[in-house]
Amino acid sequence: MPIHVFRQPFYKCLPVLLFTLNGCVASQASMQKPDTNAILVHAERVFDGNDFKTNTSVLIENGKIARIDSRESFRHITAKEIDLGDATLLPGFIELHAHIGYHHIPGDTVLKHGITTVRDVGGPVHPSYGGDGSLRVLTSGPIITAPGGYPIPSLGETDIAIPVATAEDARNAVRNLVENGAAVIKVALEPGGETGAPWNSEHGHGHPSAHHESGHQKPGLHRQWPLLPERTVQAIVEEAHRLGRKVTAHIGESEGAELAINAHIDEWAHVPCAAIPETLLKKAVAQQVKIVTTIDTLSKCPGVVRNVQTLTGLGAEFLYGAEIAHPDIPWGIDAQELIYMMSLAKMQVLDVLRAATSKAGRQLDIPLLGTLQAGAPADIIAVKGNPVETPKILEYPDLIMSGGKIAVNNFEKSVDE
Ligand SMILES: [Zn+2]
Repeated sequence: MPIHVFRQPFYKCLPVLLFTLNGCVASQASMQKPDTNAILVHAERVFDGNDFKTNTSVLIENGKIARIDSRESFRHITAKEIDLGDATLLPGFIELHAHIGYHHIPGDTVLKHGITTVRDVGGPVHPSYGGDGSLRVLTSGPIITAPGGYPIPSLGETDIAIPVATAEDARNAVRNLVENGAAVIKVALEPGGETGAPWNSEHGHGHPSAHHESGHQKPGLHRQWPLLPERTVQAIVEEAHRLGRKVTAHIGESEGAELAINAHIDEWAHVPCAAIPETLLKKAVAQQVKIVTTIDTLSKCPGVVRNVQTLTGLGAEFLYGAEIAHPDIPWGIDAQELIYMMSLAKMQVLDVLRAATSKAGRQLDIPLLGTLQAGAPADIIAVKGNPVETPKILEYPDLIMSGGKIAVNNFEKSVDE
């Protein structure tokens, strides 16, 4: 690291440089810009987005993590102290597959149940907002699809779909979305018909009110929805990448998977509902496609377990997504999703937590989001006890901080009472 980084005399840092370089830089930064609202949080266990630590405290200044270090090292710090005792501190969770805008899910409810960042993938387009005491929301905006393609047959077009007839239309659609704030581009590659898929029943993506009359279908009746041609999907990916955006695809079966692979789509927004041949999954893994899980909401899909197991054997990278706004999915952290990731994908608990925090933050290209490292946005949750033993407690955190602002603090309440 070049010496000019240090604005204070270098010798002040030197004795500790070898041991706590980050801490030195951060404390110098805080000396330049004192934060009278600094908060120092102690907890018995800290998951920093990558690993568990003990005897570790976290200092929050100016909405960011200023320093994470041993409790003793903060002896001389002036800050409001919160001692959580037998509790676990973690980065706020990141939900990569939600529809809170489209279904008008209250952001505060989601925040208070442990999710500090959601990425909507299907809904009205808007610039990213929040993260400063309120839920951080990124979106893809409406889903690019073929004329009459999914999700238009069930939901119409308004705020949820952009039909494109040509590759040029598709490029224009991507440009418009990005200009209007889309953080990612979503494309639908869904011909319909998978047994058990929520989008093939009246209880799926749709508004129940808009959907109930027309949504009922006889068992075995398979819909056939038009798909985008490969050339158009490639144009979407090219244009999105040119504008610095990833592309996520709604995929439910093999035809869509093949299109996604051929067009080098970055991410699958679900584990596909129908079983996908291993040869295709192998290609996807070779392309380092990230797979957002949504296993809980797809639990009636007969192919999900096999797909997860095959992908696991191939070394695929799963990222956490539960699909907030779907029926039976909590408006916050979905512990059942975490449990499925452990039991079906054979992920260790650390890997599951990383998939919902640091790895998800990297997928969003927001530096250090989902970690408790110096410089990260101070999006923090804490639960009493140990979530490794009882993942369910993550659904009801006792401390929530968004951009350094406290949204929930049940620890102090219990001290006052
Ligand atoms: Zn969805």
